[in-house]
Amino acid sequence: MSNTKYVFVTGGVSSSLGKGIVAASLAKLLQSQDFSVTIQKFDPYLNVDPGTLNPYEHGECFVTDDGAETDLDLGHYERFLNVPTSQANNVTTGRVYQSVIEKERRGEFLGKTVQVIPHITNEIKKRMQLLGESGDYDIVITEIGGTVGDIESLPYIETVRQLINELGDENCVVIHLTLIPYLAAAKELKTKPTQHSVKTLMESGIKADVLVCRTEHELTDDLRKKLALFCNVKQEAVIQSIDVDTIYEVPLKMLEEGLDTVVLKKFQLAPKHPHDLSDWKTFLSKLQQPKNTVKIGLVGKYVELQDSYKSILEALIHAGTKHLTAVEVVSIHSEHLEESNSQQLLEGLNGVIVAPGFGERGIEGKISAIQYVREQNIPFLGICLGMQMAVIEYARNVKGLSKANSIEMNAKCETPVIDLMESQKNITDKGGTMRLGAWDCSLKKDSKLTEIYQSDAISERHRHRYEFNNAFSEQLFDADFKMAGWNPETQLVEIIENVKHPWFVGVQFHPEYKSTVSKPHPLFAAFVEAALIHNRS
Ligand code: GLN
Repeated sequence: MSNTKYVFVTGGVSSSLGKGIVAASLAKLLQSQDFSVTIQKFDPYLNVDPGTLNPYEHGECFVTDDGAETDLDLGHYERFLNVPTSQANNVTTGRVYQSVIEKERRGEFLGKTVQVIPHITNEIKKRMQLLGESGDYDIVITEIGGTVGDIESLPYIETVRQLINELGDENCVVIHLTLIPYLAAAKELKTKPTQHSVKTLMESGIKADVLVCRTEHELTDDLRKKLALFCNVKQEAVIQSIDVDTIYEVPLKMLEEGLDTVVLKKFQLAPKHPHDLSDWKTFLSKLQQPKNTVKIGLVGKYVELQDSYKSILEALIHAGTKHLTAVEVVSIHSEHLEESNSQQLLEGLNGVIVAPGFGERGIEGKISAIQYVREQNIPFLGICLGMQMAVIEYARNVKGLSKANSIEMNAKCETPVIDLMESQKNITDKGGTMRLGAWDCSLKKDSKLTEIYQSDAISERHRHRYEFNNAFSEQLFDADFKMAGWNPETQLVEIIENVKHPWFVGVQFHPEYKSTVSKPHPLFAAFVEAALIHNRS
C-alpha cells in the first residue's frame, strides 16, 4: 500500500468561493516544501465530461495533454504547480455512472442489484485513489465540486466518509471552505451559515479538520474562537481567506494563515525543505508593480462570462508580468461587431485576440475585427476558430474569394477554405470526439515562430473538428500570408502568419492551456511584446 496522504476539500454555504484556488494554493505551499502533490476534481453533474457544456454553464473547458476535456479548475492546478494534469484528475458523476452501467451490462456484478452504495461509491473510491496508488505523489488533494447538502454531492461525501474510515483518520484531512457573510446593516460578520454547513457535513459522518473562511473583512480572534468552538475544529485550523486583488496572492495569504502547517501537522509530516517561494514572490511583485500598460481586445461570443476565456486571461497576465506590463483586457462581443459603426469598439487597442468558439453566432463580427486589425497593423492573435476566421478574412478580402467560409458555418459553402477534418467525417457523437490534446507541430525555420519558441518542433494542445483546407494552399498562401507551422504527419496547417504585418499570427491549437506562472507561454509573451511596441509607436 502506498503512503499517500489525502486532503479532501469540500464547500459550504455558497458556490464560487474559490475551492480550486484554495486547493491549488495549498498544493503550491506543499510543493514549495518539496512534497510531490497532485489535485483532482470530482464534479457532481451527469455530463460525462464538460466538453459538451456551453461555457455559460461552468466556464471554459480546459484540455489536458492526454486530450481530456476537463473542468477549468484543472487550469488553475497547472498554472500554480507547473505540472500537467490528465484525464484521471477530473471525474464527473456521468463518468462514474457510465462505467458502473457498462460493468453491469458486461455482467460483472454477478446478478447483484446495482446500487449507489456500494457500487457507485466503490467506483468513486477507486477513482479517488487512482493517482495516489501510482506512488508518484506524497499528497493527493481531492476537490469535491458543489456544496455540501446538495443531492448530487451525496455519493461523493459518503465515499469520503468511507475512505477516511479505511485509510485511517491520520492519513486524511478534510478542509471545508465556507463563506462568512458580512451584514452591512449590523456591521457584523456572521458565522451561523458556516455552523450549519459544518453540521450538514457532520450528519454525513465527516468532521471538518480545517475551516477555510472566505470573507471580505478580517476575522477577529473572538470570531475565530467562536468558529472553532461551534464547528469543533482547533483554533489554529480556522483559516481566513480574505478577498484579494489577484488569485496569485492566495498562496501567500494561506502561508500567513498556516494552512499547510495545519495539514502537515495532522499528517505528522515534517516539511522536507523550508518553503521556497522566491520565484512566486518575484512573479507577484512584478505583477503588482507594472511599468507599462497595454490594451488588448478579446473578441468572443461568450465575453459576458469572464470564466469562458479563463486560460486566455491568465496567459495574458503571465505574459504581461514577464514584460512588467499590465494587460488591460477589453472584452468585445463578436455580435456587437456586426452592427454599424462597430469599428469604434476596436479603436485604441494595442492588440486583438479572436477567441476560440463553435457555431455561426458572431462569426461575421470576428471576420470584420480581423480585417480591421490587419489593415490597421494592430497585433493579432487568432486562436483556433480565430485562426480559421483569419484564413476566411484573407481569402475574402485579399484574394477576392467572396464566398470563402468554413463548412462549420455553411455546409454548402462553395469555397470551403476551412473544411471538416477527414477523420471527423463519420463521427456523429459530440462528446470527446474532436481532435483533442497534444499534437506535434513543425515550425518554419525562418519564421518568427521559431524565434518565439526557440525551437522548430513544438507540441501544443488542440480541440477542434475543422481545419485549413489544403486544397486552397496554393491559392491562399503567398509572399505575405504564409503557413508557419504544420503537423509533421498529416500536413494539417497549425499556424498561419502574415509576414507583411507587424504581428499577425493564427494558431489552430490553444496555447493558453500551457501558460503557467513559472513558464509564461512564449506566444502570449511575444504578442504582449508586440502590443507594447504598438503602444509606443
Ligand atoms: N469550431 C472550430 C472547430 O471545431 C474551432 C474550435 C475552437 O475554436 N476550439 O474546428
